[in-house]
Amino acid sequence: MREASSTVTDDRERRLIAQVDSISNQLCQAVDGGFEFHVHTDSDEIALQKLAQLNNFVLDSVRRTIRDLQASRDELEIRVDERTQRLNLVLTATNDGVWEWDIDSGNITLSQRWSSMLGLPHEGGQRGLDDWLSRIHDDDRAEVQRSLYQHLDGLTSAVNVEYRIRDARDAWRMVLCRGLCQRNGDGVAIRMAGTQTDTTEQRLVDPLTRLPNGAYLDLLLQGRLARIPLAAMALVKFQLLNVASLFDGVAVDIAVAALRGLVQRMRRQLPPRVALIALPEHTFAMIFETDAADRLNDALEPLEALLAQPVEIDGQQVWLSHVSGIAALNPAEPVSVDEWRHQSRLALANARLSGVGSRRYYSEPLRHWERQTSHAEQLIRGALATRGVRCFVQPIVDATTGEVRCFEALMRLHEPNEGIVAPVSFIEVAERSGLIAPLWEMLMEQALPMLKDGAVCERFGDSFSLSVNLSTRQLMDPHLLDTMIAILSRHGVSPRRLQIEVTETSVLSDPARAFRILDRIRGAGISVALDDFGSGYSSLAQLTSMPMDTVKIDRELVMNVTTLPRKRHVLSAVIALCQRLDYRIVVEGVEERETLNILCDWGVTDIQGYLYSRPLPLDRLVADFSPPRPCRVRGAGRAASGSSLPAA
Ligand code: C2E
Ligand code: CA
Ligand code: CA
Repeated sequence: MREASSTVTDDRERRLIAQVDSISNQLCQAVDGGFEFHVHTDSDEIALQKLAQLNNFVLDSVRRTIRDLQASRDELEIRVDERTQRLNLVLTATNDGVWEWDIDSGNITLSQRWSSMLGLPHEGGQRGLDDWLSRIHDDDRAEVQRSLYQHLDGLTSAVNVEYRIRDARDAWRMVLCRGLCQRNGDGVAIRMAGTQTDTTEQRLVDPLTRLPNGAYLDLLLQGRLARIPLAAMALVKFQLLNVASLFDGVAVDIAVAALRGLVQRMRRQLPPRVALIALPEHTFAMIFETDAADRLNDALEPLEALLAQPVEIDGQQVWLSHVSGIAALNPAEPVSVDEWRHQSRLALANARLSGVGSRRYYSEPLRHWERQTSHAEQLIRGALATRGVRCFVQPIVDATTGEVRCFEALMRLHEPNEGIVAPVSFIEVAERSGLIAPLWEMLMEQALPMLKDGAVCERFGDSFSLSVNLSTRQLMDPHLLDTMIAILSRHGVSPRRLQIEVTETSVLSDPARAFRILDRIRGAGISVALDDFGSGYSSLAQLTSMPMDTVKIDRELVMNVTTLPRKRHVLSAVIALCQRLDYRIVVEGVEERETLNILCDWGVTDIQGYLYSRPLPLDRLVADFSPPRPCRVRGAGRAASGSSLPAA
């Protein structure tokens, strides 16, 4: 019985083991990662059924967990995908290239855009760091390296560096590189990644004209000078002098569009390979592959011909004037970029002085001129600092009465070593450098008190006026009238006793604007005289249109009239014209009595010249000058006394 019962027990154990084994075998599927099954058992044993069921619960829960994980992963993938797309969009919109530097291998992985930005083949975008650095401009490379390594060493919070990089065409582009390091738990940098933005437009393009700018010119010049063998070349600077006229009374955007149109037409006048580069003050630079003056002249002619035509703007025609300066480069005597630029600047500055339309080549004598200019500037600055401005005055005399109508204030500078310095040595530089205004104010401070000075008034009366010269810059200064009114009222002087002298050249730079200013000045009671009429290229047209009271006829027209009959005809015609137009006339530079007689015969009364007095220092005026005796009109005088000379 016991034997039978032990056999029954053994059978049960074997069945149990077999069932447990079957359950184990089924569970083996899970070892391979599959959880999509159910564990089942044929056993009637409660314990085994429980085991199978429990396994099924676990499997169920694993399957649920897997599904949840899957769903989260899908969701994450969608989000990553979305973010990647957004990032790509941003990168495309900003036009940035992306780079990633694996620190250990030294490899750089670059995005397609990084390569295309420089016109380089992409070729999987793998490059060495050195390859990248070698494209960077020599002058910028050290700064880029410093910026990368400082960030790598943890000294800076990010890489942020702008530099010039050579593109596939060997041209320079400006780029801004930004980057960040990724570090491991120990703070060790693993990789660095960032973007490269093309800033060429912002940095190398002039926003007004949209032409390449001065920084671009520097790159071009460096490139040209680095070429071996060095070719003969010339750097040409071309300046438009009165671009302000385009903006006169016209909406700014219309004027800008007109200027851009003009610049494009200028560009088309040049050979296709010659870039037109915009520099400040409406100056343009070009590099020509020749140093031969005749070829350069030929090359510039189309440009000058274009500017011989007016610019159409808002139904109006505006004539622009220009000058050009040329610095040729002799390959046998190469110079630095700075020197080359400087030479062209000097040539241009000299052309500006030589007048509208001038074309000047750099030559050694310009250095001398430059030294003089800088000496003059030192002189002016010294005078401003030490109150070294001195006012000299020269009388303008009514020859028929001997009365002094006016004193012209003429500026001198006092320099301790040189003594009194005449305007010829400094006025031009003062005008050009903008220092004329403070000099002039010092002059006025000295000159205005003479109008109320007791001794002066006793000698010359109290109705004479003071005439002061104004430079172009001053005339065009929108605050000029306010400055004059302020200084007059500070000295308690009526505007009626002040006259300003302006030259045609200062008016010509922008006649419409100058006329408006002159109208306002006259409106305030200050008289206006046109100075130096008849010197250089005077235009009769100005005589009819310029708002003014007086014409001062230049010494050049007066010189030698006693001996040159043809000159006498010209002078008499000019005087007759001014008289017809009802202007007061002052004839300048009268040195000889015979000249005075002729002028008196023609009805000219107001005379300025050495005949009466040289310019005198204010403090010598009363001592050294007395009003002359009247000049007798010759017809009457000859009849009466036979003399043609006025008494002095
Ligand atoms: P300007 O306005 O034509 O002044 C007349 C110049 O002719 C003065 O030269 C004067 O000394 C000279 N002059 C007068 N009568 C005779 C004469 O009979 N014969 C000769 N040979 N010369 C005569 P200065 O004082 O040397 O001035 C030269 C120029 O400098 C002036 O010519 C004027 O253009 C400029 N200037 C002088 N002071 C000022 C100033 O305060 N501001 C400005 N912007 N320019 C000034
Ligand atoms: Ca004058
Ligand atoms: Ca004059």
